[in-house]
Amino acid sequence: MQFLARQDFPKLLESLIIAGYQCIAPQIREGAIVYDKLQSVTQLPQGYRDNQRPAHYQLEKNEDVLYFGWAVGVQALKPLTFAPRESLWTAKRDANGKLTFIETHPEIPPTAVIGVRACDLAALHLQDQHFAYNSYSDTYYNARRRQLFLISVDCAFPASTCFCASTGDGPSAQTGFDIALTEFPEGFLVRSKSSRAEAILATLPLTEVSETQQQAALAQNQQAIEKQTRQLPSRNLKAAFFANLEHERWQDIATRCLACGNCTSVCPTCFCHSESAEPTLDGSSNTQYRQWDSCFTLGHSYMHSFVLRDNILLRYRQWLTHKLGSWHDQYGRSGCVGCGRCLTWCPVGIDITVEAQAICGESL
Ligand code: SF4
Ligand code: SF4
Repeated sequence: MQFLARQDFPKLLESLIIAGYQCIAPQIREGAIVYDKLQSVTQLPQGYRDNQRPAHYQLEKNEDVLYFGWAVGVQALKPLTFAPRESLWTAKRDANGKLTFIETHPEIPPTAVIGVRACDLAALHLQDQHFAYNSYSDTYYNARRRQLFLISVDCAFPASTCFCASTGDGPSAQTGFDIALTEFPEGFLVRSKSSRAEAILATLPLTEVSETQQQAALAQNQQAIEKQTRQLPSRNLKAAFFANLEHERWQDIATRCLACGNCTSVCPTCFCHSESAEPTLDGSSNTQYRQWDSCFTLGHSYMHSFVLRDNILLRYRQWLTHKLGSWHDQYGRSGCVGCGRCLTWCPVGIDITVEAQAICGESL
C-alpha cells in the first residue's frame, strides 16, 4: 500500500492517457452521477453527496474536497461491457440474390474506469460468469471486457439504500480491480493487483503509508459498514422463496409495481436481452440488433403465441425468485450485490430488502 497526495492525483489521469487509455469516470449529468469520458479531474463530482432513498435521488453540494464522497451513480459498469443496444451482424443481398453475412466486431480502445465501487466489481464478476466464463463465451461482451483497466475507490459514504456489507460485496474493494484507492482529504491510499497497474503506479510520486493512515482506512471502512441499515442475507434463499410462491405479499407488490423495468435497467447484474431484425425498406439488407430486455416486459415471456407471465405478480415473482433464489443454482451465489439502485430508481419505491423479508419472513 502506498500514498498519493491529492495535488498529484491529476498525474494518475495523465499517466493513463499517456499509456494509451481512454478514461471513463463519474461525472454529473442532469442532476445525477454517471460514467462518461474524462479529460480533466475538474470534471469529477468534487464535494458532492448523493441523498438516496426508495424512489428518491438528489445530489447535494458540500464544502469538502473529496472526488468520490458519494455512494453509487445511476449505472455500474454494465453499459460498458454489455451494450444497451448494438448490432450483431448484417446480411446483404446482391443483385443476383446472393446473401453475404457480415459479423459486427466492436472496436473498443483500452479503457480505464476510475471510481468503480466494490459492489460494481462484484456485479462485473457475475456478468463475467454469465457472458465470459462459460462454453458460450460472448464475443461482444469480451471485446469490451478485456479492454477494461479498473480503478476502484472504496465507498466511505453509503447511501441509505446501500446494503453491500450484508451481501459481502463492499464497501471496500477486495478483488477484481487493477488499482484500488481509499480517499482522504489529503490524498489516496493506493493498492495494486496487476503488473499493468504497477507500470502506471511507477510513474507516480508515491510515498510510504504510515500506520496512522492504515488505521484510518480500516476505521473508514468500519464506519461505512455501520452506516448501512438495510440488509439482505448472502445465503441461499431459494428454498425460502420457493416455499412461498403463493404468499399473499406477491399480490400486494403487484398492486404497487408498474412493470416499468427500471429496476432491471439499473441493476448491474441483470443480463436479459432480446434481439430484433431490422431490414431495409428495399429488402437489400437486414441488421440483427441486441438490446437490453427486462423480465417485466410482456415480450420477455412470449413463447409460441402465449405470454407465460401475463400479469405483474408473475413478472415481479420471476425477478425476485431468480435474483435471490435460483441464481444460486446458476452462479453459486445471489444475483444481488447490495448496490441499492433498484430501490432508488423504482418510481414507487419498492424495496427488495423489505419484500424479501416480508416473503421469506423468519427464514431471513
Ligand atoms: S437487485 Fe437491486 S440492490 Fe441488488 S444488485 Fe440489483 S439493483 Fe442492486
Ligand atoms: S419494482 Fe419498481 S422499478 Fe421494478 S418494474 Fe416494478 S415499479 Fe418498475
